[in-house]
Amino acid sequence: MLRDSGRCDVLIERGRLLRILKLQAWTCPIQVRRLHMKTLRLLLGDQLSREVSALRDIDRARDIVLMAEVEDEATYVRHHKQKIVLVLSAMRHFAQSLRAEGIRVDYVRLEDKENTGTLKGELGRALSRHRVDKIIVTEPGEWRLWEAMQSWGHDLGKPAEILEDDRFLCSRRDFTHWVAGRKNPRMEFFYRHMRLKTGWLIEGGKPKGGRWNYDLENRKRLPDKIKIPPRRKCVPDAETRAVINLVERRFADHFGDLRSFNWAVTRDEALEALHHFITDCLPKFGDYQDAMKSGEDLLFHSVLSPYINLGLLGAREVCEAALDSYQKGAAPLQAVEGFIRQILGWREYVRGIYWMQMPNYANTNFLDASRALPRFYWTGETDMKCLRECIDVTRRNAYAHHIQRLMVTGNFALLAGVAPAEVEEWYLIVYADAFEWVELPNTHGMALYADGGLLGSKPYAASGAYIDRMSDYCTGCAYNPKIKLGSHACPFNYLYWHFLIANEAKLKANPRMTMPYRTLARMTEKRRNQIVQEAQQFLARLES
Ligand SMILES: Cc1cc2nc3c(=O)[nH]c(=O)nc-3n(C[C@H](O)[C@H](O)[C@H](O)COP(=O)(O)OP(=O)(O)OC[C@H]3O[C@@H](n4cnc5c(N)ncnc54)[C@H](O)[C@@H]3O)c2cc1C
Ligand code: SF4
Repeated sequence: MLRDSGRCDVLIERGRLLRILKLQAWTCPIQVRRLHMKTLRLLLGDQLSREVSALRDIDRARDIVLMAEVEDEATYVRHHKQKIVLVLSAMRHFAQSLRAEGIRVDYVRLEDKENTGTLKGELGRALSRHRVDKIIVTEPGEWRLWEAMQSWGHDLGKPAEILEDDRFLCSRRDFTHWVAGRKNPRMEFFYRHMRLKTGWLIEGGKPKGGRWNYDLENRKRLPDKIKIPPRRKCVPDAETRAVINLVERRFADHFGDLRSFNWAVTRDEALEALHHFITDCLPKFGDYQDAMKSGEDLLFHSVLSPYINLGLLGAREVCEAALDSYQKGAAPLQAVEGFIRQILGWREYVRGIYWMQMPNYANTNFLDASRALPRFYWTGETDMKCLRECIDVTRRNAYAHHIQRLMVTGNFALLAGVAPAEVEEWYLIVYADAFEWVELPNTHGMALYADGGLLGSKPYAASGAYIDRMSDYCTGCAYNPKIKLGSHACPFNYLYWHFLIANEAKLKANPRMTMPYRTLARMTEKRRNQIVQEAQQFLARLES
């Protein structure tokens, strides 16, 4: 920090001294006083990266890194057991790697007797153990924590500096600047802006291959005989096994199965997962990005989101690995473009929206949805096979791929009119990659249209025909996707039309909804009434 006192003294940190001295030699006769600031650097559970701003310029001889496992963070929502194991084990391994570098780490374990259970409480205790001049922390990924942090300095009686989280490809400031004055700040335009900015898949100022987006090629149905690459196994070491036991004991009533825990907990393991994805899955990632298949949990997806979100992998390095594969001719353009779009486009875009719109964003409820979350979201006990499969994979893996989240569990919650806050809490709990900055815009905006179209230009509402086209779930289901009404009809069918009828006043004017509303207008009054009646009977039966 550079501070200019009234006497023209400049108080600076060691690392910047030389640069300032050089400047000073020919600018003005400022007196430079070297200040040995001893710093407590708090590292959060999703900041496990050597590049994170709170670790930059660390003075190994003087500074202390504080890492604390606290009950508050593990239970403010009742996270999936695998998510807690992943975060705690990755934190413990990251602390070891810092120590191996000669950095002093003060690590508080969940089971430590004196643990206060809160980050502020642990900072307070650490301040009584170490004499430091200030606290540094990188901004968190969730509004509630960011808001709480604002008073830490005052409450703890120590200057607390909150640094920008610059692990993203677009800063919060640049995003706000990009949005300013734009009539239509949609993801697609942001993505093009970011492609030009990074120069990725750009040739002579134009998109490689002549098109920005190969989304249409990314919707193929999975052929029956296609070979899906087997996934690598991560064998838990003694530390991870200890955390698994701890979580099994302490969070026994949380959702999720720990027997199938298969997450990387170190950067080296995460790099292996990246390598496996790039060589074995990326070439087919584009083609089958939207496909779903019973018994095949991961298909060609990267399953890298938890590692990127925790900091074990960087967004830039992941994209560069995909680009490198394209340059070597190992992966086709439409696969690499599809993958880059998810990270450079969607991931950065939803983060920008989150920070621009919070805290009010979470409170919008454009469709006035108010139903309680059905109980089967926790138990998987439903005769709708698609939902059963997607909830089962979520319970076993703390993971489901995008289309399962959006077009099955998300689509059902949208059509059934489940209250956004209840759906959002479910998504925040059940996925290993769920942190509010990315979970909330995806659930609130993309899946539920609760923001009235800020993030998506229309609701992602679909009938059983979509799920039937993109998956094999309907085979063996108690219902039939081709039947529209009656006891064998797929509930997604009448719920879809009921959703359009119930929200006609709010959605009909949307130009992207013209086609379905035209079809609805051609329906007889009798059929509309039948749809409404069957949907309402179904919804009344939903156990909450
Ligand atoms: C209702 C809902 C909730 C979601 N909640 C989360 C969440 O809590 N955390 C999260 O990381 N993603 C979330 N997503 C986005 C997406 O579903 C996951 O990022 C993706 O499924 C992770 O699996 P993968 O790593 O195999 O992704 P891949 O399909 O292999 O995609 C590659 C990478 O692109 C990024 N990405 C892809 N889509 C998105 C997106 N829409 N938003 C942000 N990043 C994206 C991820 O980093 C992902 O690892 C949600 C989507 C929906 C519809
Ligand atoms: S028939 Fe309907 S409920 Fe059954 S799996 Fe297909 S889409 Fe899902």
